[in-house]
Amino acid sequence: DAPKVTEADPTAQALGYKEDAAKVDKAKWAKYAAGQDCGNCSFYQGKAGDAWAPCPMFGGKQVSSKGWCSAYNKKA
Ligand code: SF4
Repeated sequence: DAPKVTEADPTAQALGYKEDAAKVDKAKWAKYAAGQDCGNCSFYQGKAGDAWAPCPMFGGKQVSSKGWCSAYNKKA
């Protein structure tokens, strides 16, 4: 499996990625809305129910299905 993104990763810092969407800095990322997480983002490369899956925003490293970053785009 691809390595997991850490919150210390420079891309994670730039995009405000948190492994737990509840911990997103909502003052900084006003676009965040409750219910959004990697698991329902169009970029998430996993199947429904996968706890971790690659994300192209992080060069294919894995992100948590419960995470969030500012590149979030709701899956259609
Ligand atoms: Fe999660 Fe989507 Fe951001 Fe990737 S782009 S880290 S799947 S919110």
